[in-house]
Amino acid sequence: MSGQAKGDKAGSKQRLNMMSGTWPTVLLNLGVVVSIACIGNAIAQTQATNVMSWAAFVAVTTFLILVVVAVPLRVLLVTQRRASFRITEELRQQNERQAFDARLGRALDMADSETMALGVAAKALSMAGTDLSASILLADNSDAHLQTVVSTSNCTGASVCEVATPRGCPAVRNGQTLQFASSDQLDCCPHLAERGIANLAALCVPVSVVGRATGVVHVVREGVPLDATERNRVESVAHQAGQYVGMLRATAQTQLQASTDPLTGLNNRRSMENSVRILMRDDVPFAVGICDLDHFKRLNDTYGHDTGDRALRLFARTLRNTVRAADLVSRHGGEEFVVVMPYTDSVGATEILERVRLELIAAVSDGRTPGFTVSAGVADTTESGDYQVLLQLADERLMRAKRTGRNRIVNRVAFANSEALDVNEVHEELEALDTELDSSLV
Ligand code: GH3
Ligand code: MG
Ligand code: MG
Repeated sequence: MSGQAKGDKAGSKQRLNMMSGTWPTVLLNLGVVVSIACIGNAIAQTQATNVMSWAAFVAVTTFLILVVVAVPLRVLLVTQRRASFRITEELRQQNERQAFDARLGRALDMADSETMALGVAAKALSMAGTDLSASILLADNSDAHLQTVVSTSNCTGASVCEVATPRGCPAVRNGQTLQFASSDQLDCCPHLAERGIANLAALCVPVSVVGRATGVVHVVREGVPLDATERNRVESVAHQAGQYVGMLRATAQTQLQASTDPLTGLNNRRSMENSVRILMRDDVPFAVGICDLDHFKRLNDTYGHDTGDRALRLFARTLRNTVRAADLVSRHGGEEFVVVMPYTDSVGATEILERVRLELIAAVSDGRTPGFTVSAGVADTTESGDYQVLLQLADERLMRAKRTGRNRIVNRVAFANSEALDVNEVHEELEALDTELDSSLV
């Protein structure tokens, strides 16, 4: 039912109540008049000489009717009318709250990120009452600190609560709304009193995200405490904002899990393909490098799977920390990683991956992880506009890197040059060196 329809219904109910108070009064008065008329008629019809005693009888009867019936009835009617006004007022407030909730829900439905949802909440708070300064504080990722994530435009430094941790906020700690009529009262929150502003009223409503109080909506106003309607609205904002933030966080978490490799935390193959699709749509040139860890099976077999996992994580970290922030890094499976470097050609990409190769050697030199190396093949969008073709080219060059000794980067030029070499000869020679190197690493 719409707010308008509810308002109409409440109005007609009020009119009905008022009429039900009027009709008995009219009937009562009519009864009194008729009684007096009957008595008068009886007097007229008697030729009684005792007119005075009749007059006294009439006066006493009228007085009794008034005292015994009319006055209590009147009191009853007034009480009923007051009750009906109260019910009407409660209904009006309830309708008003439902309409506000519905509007807020519709606005939050249209928000598709936490920032947008919090923006909607701030707008709703600015409409919750006159002269209210409101802010929302939420716990950070560590759950150890509260941060002001959004505030209404009229917020000044003194309107924002300085509480630093969720446990430090009595409303969050107890999971209960707290209202303070004035900062001067003895039992007001210390974080309100410490601001040194006289007669500052406040309302603190905990925000529960996924069933846990992890934040607070903090509203203040100088001089006048918040009334019931304002409190209802602020509570509604806190409740709904918490629900939406929880839902958006759960969705984001699911998406992250679906796009992330759990061992290394890097993007997975599918997520990389999505990112590359966007680069291609925007006509961004890029280079692609496939990195493969050398003799990783041997490392696994020698030191065990856990050490292998640790080595994979070490390489993922080294790779991510060495490439540029705009470069995209993913684990394509096993001990194979792909790097996409926007606005970079094969030469630039080879330099970047060469840095990665050297950083890895430095990273394992502390001896905490068994030594291992990386080989890579590189291609760029000047060779093909098709990502899968670029991967194939890079993979061919990676194979050449393996066959010509490993622990190296091969791009188009290096690939062409190495073709001139007697690969088999080099291969045999390098395999021998390789075995030597491996036994020294073990
Ligand atoms: P190459 O230098 O020619 O690449 O030799 P390689 O031994 O690295 O290559 P191969 O493909 O023979 O072996 C890859 C090994 O990587 C096999 C597997 O044991 C290991 N591996 C793949 N995924 C994981 C993983 O998630 N954890 C661990 N610890 N090892 C893995
Ligand atoms: Mg491999
Ligand atoms: Mg390998």
